[in-house]
Amino acid sequence: MSCFRRHSFGLPGCIAAAALFFSIASAPADPPPRPVMIPGVTSSGRATVSPAQGISGEFGAWTVKFTVGKEGIETGGGIRVQLPDSWHSGPRNSANSLQSRDPAKPHYVQARVSRSGVKFAHLVESERSNEELIKHPKLSLDGRNERYVFVVRVHLTEGRLQAGDTISVIYGERSGGSPGMLAAAIATDQEPVLVAVDTTGKNTFQRIKKEPQIQSLAGEPVEMLVHAPSQAVPGRPVQMLVALLDAQYNPVMRPVKLRLSLVTGNGSFSAKVNARPRNGRIQFSVTPRSVGVLRVKVEAPDLKLSAVSNPTDVTKALPERKLYWGDIHSHARLSWDGVGDRSFEYARHITGLDFYALTDHSIEPTGGTTRGLSKETWAESVALTEKFHDPPHFVTIHGYEASFDRPYGHHNVYFRDRPGPFIYPERTSLDELWQMAAAGEVLTIPHHTGKFPGGIDFEHHHPDFRRNFEIYSGHGSSEVYAPGQPLSFERSNFTQPSRSLPAPTFAQDAWKKGLLVSTIAASDDHRGQPGQPHFGLAAVRAPTLTRNDVFQSLHDRHTYGTTGAKVILEFSLNGSPMGSSVQVDSAPLLKVRALGSGVIERVQILKWQKSAEKFAVLHSWHPDALDFEGEYRDEAFTAGAIYYVRLRQKEPIRDHLVKAWSSPIWTEKKH
Ligand SMILES: [Zn+2]
Ligand SMILES: [Zn+2]
Repeated sequence: MSCFRRHSFGLPGCIAAAALFFSIASAPADPPPRPVMIPGVTSSGRATVSPAQGISGEFGAWTVKFTVGKEGIETGGGIRVQLPDSWHSGPRNSANSLQSRDPAKPHYVQARVSRSGVKFAHLVESERSNEELIKHPKLSLDGRNERYVFVVRVHLTEGRLQAGDTISVIYGERSGGSPGMLAAAIATDQEPVLVAVDTTGKNTFQRIKKEPQIQSLAGEPVEMLVHAPSQAVPGRPVQMLVALLDAQYNPVMRPVKLRLSLVTGNGSFSAKVNARPRNGRIQFSVTPRSVGVLRVKVEAPDLKLSAVSNPTDVTKALPERKLYWGDIHSHARLSWDGVGDRSFEYARHITGLDFYALTDHSIEPTGGTTRGLSKETWAESVALTEKFHDPPHFVTIHGYEASFDRPYGHHNVYFRDRPGPFIYPERTSLDELWQMAAAGEVLTIPHHTGKFPGGIDFEHHHPDFRRNFEIYSGHGSSEVYAPGQPLSFERSNFTQPSRSLPAPTFAQDAWKKGLLVSTIAASDDHRGQPGQPHFGLAAVRAPTLTRNDVFQSLHDRHTYGTTGAKVILEFSLNGSPMGSSVQVDSAPLLKVRALGSGVIERVQILKWQKSAEKFAVLHSWHPDALDFEGEYRDEAFTAGAIYYVRLRQKEPIRDHLVKAWSSPIWTEKKH
């Protein structure tokens, strides 16, 4: 997602926007002066939080109690309290807006002081009315300027507090009818509650020395994921992974009894597995016994949960190019609008990915505050990417997001091996980045190109660097302008209702314009939970699972994208695979093979040729089966035609239609 610095909003920048809203915070009739933070810590006073835990995504109430130190607190003084960012993050990348105005609504915060006769006001700094999805960055007690910062201020207007008196801030106070406050959207480690005090009444606050810790825990398991490798050979065991998730997609760590059975294919395994999750998931071994498509059903009877593994294509020998799954567009706490700090572990163990890239937002820091990936935090991201790189089991790719304004649009920037140029999109254009980059070493992949108000102008293009296209993410589909369709931006509800851009900014437009870009999909997750089965995955066919091979295969367009299901899709023209440019004489033979993660409802070949205004469905199949094979000869072929395949399954996943989009095959006349 972009920072709140779109020109169309008429504001010059995130910082400026934050300062503006900060100064006009209008909760009390007479707002207290803007606080000044003094560096360092004070040992005056102490604080606790109770309870010190919550269940991720569930309502509760939490009290931060500050006990006044020996200096007391003078009139005009008070405290400022801030829960960890994760505690204000909502679904997708929105905030659950904390508020001090309506005691009957969710996320209401109240304050109390223990001494009678003392008058005080409390407010949520930066509070704005009627806005549930707070997208604006706000200043934090530790100097950051980010989306999930909500500082509560308690301000003494009359009287003085003495040593031992208390000020309580009650998050989710319910006596006025509020359902309470939602705990963090994700499970976390213990994180500090920031508390600062002004004892003098001069609006100078200092953080206290020992800040209390709060933790968000996973809830009950409500879903099971089973991951299998996409290919295998008879007689050689493969590992499958099972993860139990709560309603917020957090892994649930508890011992569980599993029952395994065969759905399709031929394989041997132990029918019962009793295991305690390690790294958040349970691993079991399956030995394929013959060529075919292997699918294993896993049941946890005690939890009333079950799931079927994604298809494993068992062939006599492994293909030269193996199919690997990755999510190379996701965010976590290093983005100003992201939370979570276990995205690498999540990608490897919970969503069972083969490769992964953390692509936090590069944003130029202003006024000394961090509000995204700066040059300093980029070094942290690079170190994490190296730390979790473990080929041939799990590959990480160095990358970051540069959310360019028009005419360029949002791009993720990837490196073959060690990171190359790190730029701020506010300062350096995409054209300039392409000039700095070495061909073959850097890829720039655009995303949500069809989403309002962003957009992309395909006139600005560089074939060495832009070779792939993110056709789908949690935001919705950028295949073609179709505002009513189920995966449109209008219906994705990613942060707030969005719109499709009625402009030639979609994948089909790029192809018609002559861009040789292959399809991928990715989550654009902002919760440190990449690889979600409804948010988009990239399929890459590479010789081996190394960083170099994955990068080279992206570069060479051996890719396709799905909505997140690990559907196996093959598409060829006269034997050349998707992503190729092929010289054709006449009437090419188009072949499709698909192994579904569920029943395949429809498979379509789409075609565009120079005389046509738009892509049209050339041929449609309705398999109503798990697996499909078909071929079609295009007797109406003309040179320059472009073909691609899209597939749809019958059953949705998490209320999202399951789709896959092949890369195109481009044709030219044989000379
Ligand atoms: Zn973006
Ligand atoms: Zn993003």
